[in-house]
Amino acid sequence: MKKEIETCYCQSGLVQSECCGPFLQGSKFPGTAEQLMRSRYSAYVTQSISYLKKTLWPEQQSQFDRHEVENWANQAKWLGLEILRVEKGSLFDTSGIVEFKAHYKISGRHEIHHEVSRFQRGSDGKWYYVQNVTGQ
Ligand SMILES: [Zn+2]
Repeated sequence: MKKEIETCYCQSGLVQSECCGPFLQGSKFPGTAEQLMRSRYSAYVTQSISYLKKTLWPEQQSQFDRHEVENWANQAKWLGLEILRVEKGSLFDTSGIVEFKAHYKISGRHEIHHEVSRFQRGSDGKWYYVQNVTGQ
Protein backbone atom coordinates (compact mmCIF):
# COMPACT_ATOMS: atom_id res chain seq x y z
CA MET A 1 0.00 0.00 0.00
CA LYS A 2 1.15 3.49 -0.82
CA LYS A 3 1.52 5.83 2.07
CA GLU A 4 -0.23 9.15 1.79
CA ILE A 5 2.35 11.93 1.61
CA GLU A 6 1.28 14.99 3.49
CA THR A 7 2.53 18.30 2.21
CA CYS A 8 3.42 20.91 4.77
CA TYR A 9 0.87 23.28 6.32
CA CYS A 10 2.90 26.28 5.15
CA GLN A 11 2.23 25.38 1.50
CA SER A 12 5.89 25.17 0.54
CA GLY A 13 5.01 22.09 -1.49
CA LEU A 14 7.47 20.03 0.57
CA VAL A 15 6.42 17.14 2.78
CA GLN A 16 6.08 18.01 6.46
CA SER A 17 9.06 15.89 7.47
CA GLU A 18 11.27 17.94 5.15
CA CYS A 19 9.77 21.28 6.08
CA CYS A 20 8.21 22.54 9.31
CA GLY A 21 7.68 19.14 10.97
CA PRO A 22 11.13 18.77 12.57
CA PHE A 23 11.10 22.41 13.71
CA LEU A 24 7.76 22.00 15.49
CA GLN A 25 8.98 18.77 17.06
CA GLY A 26 12.18 20.48 18.20
CA SER A 27 14.50 18.01 16.47
CA LYS A 28 15.85 20.71 14.13
CA PHE A 29 16.08 24.49 14.16
CA PRO A 30 15.23 26.79 11.23
CA GLY A 31 18.34 27.94 9.38
CA THR A 32 16.72 30.95 7.78
CA ALA A 33 14.25 33.64 8.77
CA GLU A 34 11.81 32.38 6.12
CA GLN A 35 11.94 28.86 7.56
CA LEU A 36 11.13 30.26 10.99
CA MET A 37 8.29 32.33 9.53
CA ARG A 38 6.86 29.27 7.80
CA SER A 39 7.15 27.13 10.90
CA ARG A 40 5.42 29.77 13.00
CA TYR A 41 2.51 29.75 10.54
CA SER A 42 2.43 25.95 10.80
CA ALA A 43 2.44 26.33 14.58
CA TYR A 44 -0.75 28.42 14.33
CA VAL A 45 -2.33 25.73 12.14
CA THR A 46 -1.40 22.94 14.55
CA GLN A 47 -1.98 25.10 17.64
CA SER A 48 1.58 24.58 18.82
CA ILE A 49 1.36 27.51 21.21
CA SER A 50 4.57 26.66 23.06
CA TYR A 51 6.47 26.85 19.79
CA LEU A 52 5.13 30.35 19.18
CA LYS A 53 6.39 31.44 22.59
CA LYS A 54 9.73 29.66 22.27
CA THR A 55 10.51 31.32 18.94
CA LEU A 56 9.67 34.80 20.20
CA TRP A 57 12.66 37.06 20.96
CA PRO A 58 13.66 36.02 24.54
CA GLU A 59 13.21 39.47 26.08
CA GLN A 60 9.61 39.55 24.83
CA GLN A 61 8.56 36.12 26.01
CA SER A 62 7.33 37.45 29.38
CA GLN A 63 4.74 39.55 27.49
CA PHE A 64 3.47 36.57 25.52
CA ASP A 65 -0.28 36.28 26.05
CA ARG A 66 -0.78 32.55 25.76
CA HIS A 67 -4.53 32.76 26.16
CA GLU A 68 -4.97 35.35 23.42
CA VAL A 69 -2.72 33.51 20.97
CA GLU A 70 -4.45 30.22 21.74
CA ASN A 71 -7.87 31.76 21.13
CA TRP A 72 -6.85 33.21 17.79
CA ALA A 73 -5.15 30.01 16.64
CA ASN A 74 -8.22 27.98 17.65
CA GLN A 75 -10.92 30.20 16.24
CA ALA A 76 -9.27 30.79 12.90
CA LYS A 77 -9.47 28.24 10.15
CA TRP A 78 -6.10 28.66 8.49
CA LEU A 79 -6.31 28.70 4.71
CA GLY A 80 -2.78 29.41 3.54
CA LEU A 81 0.42 31.37 3.63
CA GLU A 82 1.93 33.61 0.96
CA ILE A 83 5.50 34.82 1.34
CA LEU A 84 5.69 38.14 -0.49
CA ARG A 85 9.21 39.37 0.22
CA VAL A 86 12.33 38.24 2.03
CA GLU A 87 15.24 40.56 2.85
CA LYS A 88 18.38 38.93 4.23
CA GLY A 89 17.62 36.28 6.85
CA SER A 90 19.80 33.70 5.10
CA LEU A 91 22.05 31.10 6.72
CA PHE A 92 24.78 33.76 6.95
CA ASP A 93 22.73 36.71 8.21
CA THR A 94 21.97 37.79 11.75
CA SER A 95 18.73 39.60 10.93
CA GLY A 96 16.02 39.42 8.33
CA ILE A 97 12.68 40.74 7.15
CA VAL A 98 9.83 38.61 5.84
CA GLU A 99 6.64 40.07 4.41
CA PHE A 100 3.73 37.66 4.25
CA LYS A 101 -0.01 37.22 4.02
CA ALA A 102 -1.73 34.60 6.12
CA HIS A 103 -5.23 33.73 4.96
CA TYR A 104 -7.80 32.50 7.42
CA LYS A 105 -11.49 32.30 8.04
CA ILE A 106 -13.04 33.52 11.24
CA SER A 107 -16.77 33.77 12.00
CA GLY A 108 -17.39 32.77 8.39
CA ARG A 109 -15.36 35.65 6.97
CA HIS A 110 -12.20 35.41 4.90
CA GLU A 111 -9.53 37.55 6.53
CA ILE A 112 -5.97 38.31 5.56
CA HIS A 113 -3.24 39.02 8.07
CA HIS A 114 -0.64 41.03 6.15
CA GLU A 115 2.55 41.61 8.08
CA VAL A 116 6.16 42.66 7.66
CA SER A 117 8.06 40.77 10.34
CA ARG A 118 11.52 41.31 11.70
CA PHE A 119 13.61 38.32 12.69
CA GLN A 120 16.89 38.24 14.55
CA ARG A 121 19.45 35.58 15.28
CA GLY A 122 20.04 35.17 19.01
CA SER A 123 23.34 34.69 20.81
CA ASP A 124 22.51 30.97 20.76
CA GLY A 125 22.57 31.05 16.94
CA LYS A 126 18.82 30.42 16.57
CA TRP A 127 16.37 32.60 14.72
CA TYR A 128 13.69 34.48 16.66
CA TYR A 129 10.65 36.51 15.72
CA VAL A 130 11.21 40.02 17.04
CA GLN A 131 8.27 42.12 15.95
CA ASN A 132 5.75 43.27 13.43
CA VAL A 133 7.33 46.23 11.60
CA THR A 134 4.52 46.85 9.10
CA GLY A 135 4.47 50.51 8.10
CA GLN A 136 7.86 51.30 9.65
ZN1 LIG B 1 6.46 24.07 6.12
